[in-house]
Amino acid sequence: MSHRFDVIVVGAGMVGAAFACLLARRASGLTVAVIDGRMPPPFDGEGDYRPRVSAVSRASGRVLEACGAWTRIAGSRISPYQRMCVWDAGHDLEQPGTIRFDAVDLGESELGHILENDLIQQALVDQLRSLAEVRLICPASATAIGAGGDRVIVDLDDGTSLRGHLIVGADGAGSATRRLAGIGTRGHAYDQTALVCHVTTERPHHETAWQRFLPDGPVALLPLADGRSSVVWSTLPDTADSLVKAETDVFLDALTTATDGVLGRITGTGDRFTFPLRLQMAETYISRRLALIGDAAHTVHPLAGQGVNLGFLDAAALAEVIIDAHAAGRDYGEHAVLRRYERWRRGENTAAAYGIDAIGRLFRRPEAVVGTLRRAGVALVDGVPVIKNLIVRRAMGLSGDLPRFARPPEARERSA
Ligand SMILES: Cc1cc2nc3c(=O)[nH]c(=O)nc-3n(C[C@H](O)[C@H](O)[C@H](O)COP(=O)(O)OP(=O)(O)OC[C@H]3O[C@@H](n4cnc5c(N)ncnc54)[C@H](O)[C@@H]3O)c2cc1C
Repeated sequence: MSHRFDVIVVGAGMVGAAFACLLARRASGLTVAVIDGRMPPPFDGEGDYRPRVSAVSRASGRVLEACGAWTRIAGSRISPYQRMCVWDAGHDLEQPGTIRFDAVDLGESELGHILENDLIQQALVDQLRSLAEVRLICPASATAIGAGGDRVIVDLDDGTSLRGHLIVGADGAGSATRRLAGIGTRGHAYDQTALVCHVTTERPHHETAWQRFLPDGPVALLPLADGRSSVVWSTLPDTADSLVKAETDVFLDALTTATDGVLGRITGTGDRFTFPLRLQMAETYISRRLALIGDAAHTVHPLAGQGVNLGFLDAAALAEVIIDAHAAGRDYGEHAVLRRYERWRRGENTAAAYGIDAIGRLFRRPEAVVGTLRRAGVALVDGVPVIKNLIVRRAMGLSGDLPRFARPPEARERSA
């Protein structure tokens, strides 16, 4: 049996679901199939926080608004953060060499929000379910894909097929779509694993995201609305393994030391989880009638909290080029349209991924002279508001070549 749609999206994670929402809400008449192998359990805003959270930029917030999902998210639980403070283990927080960002200095109400990944995905999936143009097919996985003429076909593991004009691979770092399309990847595994958990602390977090660079990797405390902080501790794989298995008291002491007691003692922890880390870039983002977005196209180190933010910009950029081509009566799956998306996003994502990689390497250099130069460089940036604001505005998605769904509404209307 086969079903017809215009666009077939593989993966209803945060990025694939956002892309499908944008397309179905903003392109007149395009039908969208979204397939996913599994959904997280329904999100319960009264239950405990889910383990995985993301620091979501202002630009991503606007993409979620354009998807029609922000009201649902804001009506549940969101943790705004006003400040960010980054320093390295070679010196005290109060000495020069610490960099601080404050929303007040930028005239913004916050730097961004800490949101649970499952909350974002649930809000987007609820929105997808309310759109007549969308069919969410779950559980289902793609087993084969093909393209010929102006058509594509996706075979599913339940024996059915989907026909359309474009396939979008949003199926994460291990993307089957990317593999089935024969697209290779470049990159390397980091000699690091991220340990994540939510902790209680002796002192309040003051809506500040704290990140301390240790020789084995950074440890971050991200503020949650209930007063706890979410930990992302990137460290050597063996160390992460021991920390996840350690007795609670041993772990709490180790984390208190790693964070230099910035929030006093770490007094309690929820369940601990680990994620191996890698830098991975798809060799191309497009193939015949196919485009990759989100982690299927690029996977970056979490130290700058940029992974899903880059993915949301991919979703917004691809939706924009398709919507514009469709409105102009063009074939939105043709190479020239997809190439416009690739030219727009690949350079940006590659620069971000290797920039983040370089920061991680710089902070892992143990030599005293490198440490001195590093602190001098950080102090210089911290002391020159123009440079500092340029950096943070870029990370927040307040500057750069933003897709229109990521711009403030007034700028969006002007460019539409
Ligand atoms: C420890 C850690 C902390 C992070 N912190 C941040 C942060 O603060 N800020 C930030 O911006 N980013 C952060 N990231 C990165 C962020 O989590 C990812 O970039 C994001 O989850 C990618 O979303 P995605 O939708 O592209 O892929 P995924 O979240 O991997 O979703 C892919 C979807 O595709 C489905 N799927 C997979 N294979 C198939 C198939 N064959 N058929 C059908 N469906 C399939 C899956 O079920 C899933 O729903 C962090 C990452 C880590 C590891």
